[in-house]
Amino acid sequence: MPPREPMFLECTECGTRYYRTTKTMSTLKQGQKIEKMKFCPKCRMHRVHKERKK
Ligand SMILES: [Zn+2]
Repeated sequence: MPPREPMFLECTECGTRYYRTTKTMSTLKQGQKIEKMKFCPKCRMHRVHKERKK
């Protein structure tokens, strides 16, 4: 089983943590920060969400 690191995706605009995700093996190797466009319920629009450890 590959190691998985639980984390949150935080809205860069308002800081709302609405999504939970896990880092995959390949992402860990590259040392990249996860950045995704997700719908933020507080901003009521799509925002860039960045990974944040809990
Ligand atoms: Zn937001």
